[in-house]
Amino acid sequence: MKPTGILFFPAFDWAISPTHPEREERLLYTRDQIFEEGIMDLPQIREYQPGLATDRDIARVHFCVPDVAAQITEAHLVSAGSALRIADAYMEGEIKNGFAIIRPPGHHSKTVSHGNRGFCNINNEAIMVEYLRQKYGIKRVAIVDTDVHHGDGTQEIYYNDPDVLFISFHQDGRTLYPGSGHMDELGGPLAYGTTINLPLAPRTTDTGILYALEHLIMPILEEFKPEVIVNSAGQDNHYSDPLADMRFSAQGYARLNEMLAPDIAVLEGGYSVQTALPYVNMGLIMAMAGIDYSNLREPDYVPERMRENPANLEYIEKMVRRQLQVFRQREEQIAKNRKTRERFHHIHKQIFYDTDYIHEDQSIQLRLCPECPGFRLIESTAQHRNGYYYRVYCVSIPANACASCQAEGHSCYTDMSSNDRYDLVYLQDRANDDYRSIDIKKDVEMVL
Ligand SMILES: [Zn+2]
Ligand SMILES: [Zn+2]
Repeated sequence: MKPTGILFFPAFDWAISPTHPEREERLLYTRDQIFEEGIMDLPQIREYQPGLATDRDIARVHFCVPDVAAQITEAHLVSAGSALRIADAYMEGEIKNGFAIIRPPGHHSKTVSHGNRGFCNINNEAIMVEYLRQKYGIKRVAIVDTDVHHGDGTQEIYYNDPDVLFISFHQDGRTLYPGSGHMDELGGPLAYGTTINLPLAPRTTDTGILYALEHLIMPILEEFKPEVIVNSAGQDNHYSDPLADMRFSAQGYARLNEMLAPDIAVLEGGYSVQTALPYVNMGLIMAMAGIDYSNLREPDYVPERMRENPANLEYIEKMVRRQLQVFRQREEQIAKNRKTRERFHHIHKQIFYDTDYIHEDQSIQLRLCPECPGFRLIESTAQHRNGYYYRVYCVSIPANACASCQAEGHSCYTDMSSNDRYDLVYLQDRANDDYRSIDIKKDVEMVL
């Protein structure tokens, strides 16, 4: 039996601010518990050392404004690089599964990065998925986001990609940051049904969450048949988490992980630093490694307080039935959407970076291609914290783009390359693994 890979990168020198929930000691107690229990010495576990992501790895996913260096610290490169390290170990067949216990987190970070949103600058899971696709030719991936906050960054990155299934359950956005993740966010016109959200009422317990896992997430995964299952393993659904209001337990998380059986788990949120994180992380490691976790129990766990409300369970059952139906009808809906006579689908968005207090305006055009998922043109403006007002133009060509979308995307880049309405013009061509940008004022092209 192959071992479970564990990579621990607590980033003890990185914090948003000294009193912020995303601070240095977030993983301190988890580290103590893992080492005290001797988990790393077990034959079922293999420890991995952190890695380093490159600017190219990041540019495969993000348009960082004005450049990658402006949006990250070394800790971000190590955090993302560590997810890649575990991904390599998994793909090379060294481990049966792996868990990257890393920070800074990433799932609120979207395609364009002007700053920090929800404690995230770059998206670790998306960087890993694009790396897996380029390096190993992986096509179909599922990302299951079990953080209490909606994984809005990951959703946005894959909203128009029918080969990456994104499923998120979370505390209802009407009651929690970032406010999104509603039932009707189902993917773009050519990727309809491969974004599935399950907004749960506050105080949902193990019973409710495991019901959704068994009756919605597992059947969808079975039908979608991903080559790799990634878990965005946020632990803030825990009943003691200070930022949210759910009733999930360490046992619940372990059971979830056992059923979901992700190939790679990547840590996201979880801010109950002392009371929940060490137990939940232990539960996940034990479940992944096939170690009996039945004795794992938080000292303050009172089962009587964690009973599911029957009305809430009924509400979850209804949502599960509806989302399963949407997923199963996705191909018919996409075929309908493809028949439109519009060449482009237009969207306008306003994005708020709560940590950095930046407001971004985006205009997006998605090519409604009859052959492929279509390329995207993104015009984005935002005033950074240094007062500078950036206006950028981005061309994003997906890995499975048809030849004409590739050619048209390149000519959009060339056409805009001397347009002084913009500060920067970017090309992200995943089909040819080609990433570049032009600084219009300096008239310099940077090729990554
Ligand atoms: Zn979270
Ligand atoms: Zn096309």
